Amino acid sequence: MNRPRVILLAVVVAVLALAPFALGNFGVSLLNDIGISALVALGLVLLTGVGGATSFGQAAFVGIAAYATAWLTTAQGYSPWIGLLFALLLTGVAALAIGLLTLRLGGHFLPLSTIAWGLSIALLFGNMQALGSHTGLSKIPALVLGGVSLADPRAMYYLIWVVVGLAVLFCYNVLQSRSGRAIRSLRGGAILLASVGADAFRVRLTLFVLAALLAGVAGWLYAHTNRFVSPSPFDVRASIEYLLMAVAGGLGQLSGAIVGAALVLVMKNALQDVLPMFTQRGGELQAVGFAILFLLLLHYARAGLMGFVTRWTRGRFARKEAAQPPQAPPLPRRELPARGTKLLGVRNAVKRFGGLVAVNDVSFEVAAGEIVGLIGPNGAGKSTMFNLLTGTAPMTSGSVEFLGEDVTGLQQRVIANRGMARTFQHVKLRPHMTLLDNVALGAHGRTHKGLMAAGLRLDRREEAQIMAEAWRQLDRIGLAQRAHELAGSLPLGTQRILEIARALAADPVLLVLDEPAAGLRRKEKQELGELLRKLRAEGVTILIVEHDMDFVMKLVDRLVVMNFGSKLTEGVPAAVRANPDVQAAYLGGPVNTPPAARVEEPPRKAAVGAAA
Ligand code: ADP
Ligand code: MG
Repeated sequence: MNRPRVILLAVVVAVLALAPFALGNFGVSLLNDIGISALVALGLVLLTGVGGATSFGQAAFVGIAAYATAWLTTAQGYSPWIGLLFALLLTGVAALAIGLLTLRLGGHFLPLSTIAWGLSIALLFGNMQALGSHTGLSKIPALVLGGVSLADPRAMYYLIWVVVGLAVLFCYNVLQSRSGRAIRSLRGGAILLASVGADAFRVRLTLFVLAALLAGVAGWLYAHTNRFVSPSPFDVRASIEYLLMAVAGGLGQLSGAIVGAALVLVMKNALQDVLPMFTQRGGELQAVGFAILFLLLLHYARAGLMGFVTRWTRGRFARKEAAQPPQAPPLPRRELPARGTKLLGVRNAVKRFGGLVAVNDVSFEVAAGEIVGLIGPNGAGKSTMFNLLTGTAPMTSGSVEFLGEDVTGLQQRVIANRGMARTFQHVKLRPHMTLLDNVALGAHGRTHKGLMAAGLRLDRREEAQIMAEAWRQLDRIGLAQRAHELAGSLPLGTQRILEIARALAADPVLLVLDEPAAGLRRKEKQELGELLRKLRAEGVTILIVEHDMDFVMKLVDRLVVMNFGSKLTEGVPAAVRANPDVQAAYLGGPVNTPPAARVEEPPRKAAVGAAA
């Protein structure tokens, strides 16, 4: 951290530490509420802001925890600290169950389902006799910490804010880690994550449980601060309020949770004070006030209050970024198969999209250590072939063997973890992440530290290794000096090269590149060619789709030619170039009749150098 940030943090901590001395009881209670709500909003910043999954049911988790500890400490007479464990256990299990059921839902169905469980859990509290039905549970004991009672809200205040501080620190650490990069990559689809060996569903589920546990801690604090629980503070309306806090503060920053909680709760109190002066229907007007706030935010300040603050500070107190890779021992490397042995075998691959046969009975092999080019006119089925052999899309029929094992039907992530790394014709980067983070993502499958370890900073050794690897690969493609820039700021051609660096960070046995040279200038293409040759010399096997015939003919050892979904021929570049069928395919001649199953004529690329 740089100086202004340290000073700012020190000031915030000092103000928070002294606040109870300057404030009356009301002020302290309000700050307690803000701290508790901030914990819930913090979970939402991660879940919704970073992970892109909207939850309208977060208050239900607060409720589960609050009721759990309330019941255990009143009806069963246990200590509140046992209550904490019980509360977190129940919240965690509930989140896991709900997450397993709902997180696979796409589009608007996930938010809709969160409303459903938010409603049902609140209803449950109101209808269970053991939980006091609508009147709730009272006489919840106060916390006792090291023999000191925290019955006084001023004592509770310190506990709440220390917990908030620790939670923010935990989440901050998580975001700067392997898990954090995966979480930040959730938006924009699961395919990229799968291609680096990560399980997007698992990442999302873990994130969901983390957000629920933060709400759980809040619920436990709530129960022992207010010493009374009833169903209404945990209904869907409360959930929406938590979401409003996260949006108002800023979904992009952890600090947004605290700022947003303060903003919403202060405003709520102000409205409660002011509205009765004008009308007797203050309660209803308050809802209107919040609705207006929501609309204004969505129109004018999507990034929330902290969005404005960070925009203002970015230019002035830019964070100092490391200009050098950290010193760390290299990550362990995969053993490469002996040159010339069979690495990949595609047999009778077929892919149908409805009536269209995109890949029609294609078979070919790739030996370890060679560069094989897959060529053919646009729409020939090359990208589809790549999707089949990498497990990105399932085959209609056929089989794939990789490293001596049948990998047909295995998940993309599993195949990736066995050493197959790929790039995409339609670039899949995370534009809002730095070059360094995008490349580091590639090492996901080679590394292991999880979210807990990251939050507690037990992952620093491995993280340094990942960073060193990412720097090394960035340096290889000549982009190390731009490591901290955002990937979205690169021209499209360079983004393709960045994808190669990401693939290399996985330490692949087989590198599958879909049109890596598209959009590159002549000199950049030469550099790419040199890089690929160097990789081959190191023993990496490469399978490449490329349209620039000049480039591809000079680079590859062998070519496989596809046309209309079928394999036209294969062989060394000179033989392929001389093949009349290939010349006809590229010049659009009527040499082979399209199979009857084709329903449309694919677009054809204008004459390329193949016939030259
Ligand atoms: P290439 O990469 O050789 O240009 P593709 O593999 O992208 O060709 O496409 C082969 C054919 O399959 C094209 O006709 C394309 O329209 C079709 N196709 C590819 N993906 C899909 C899909 N997801 N759904 C339907 N048709 C597809
Ligand atoms: Mg393609």
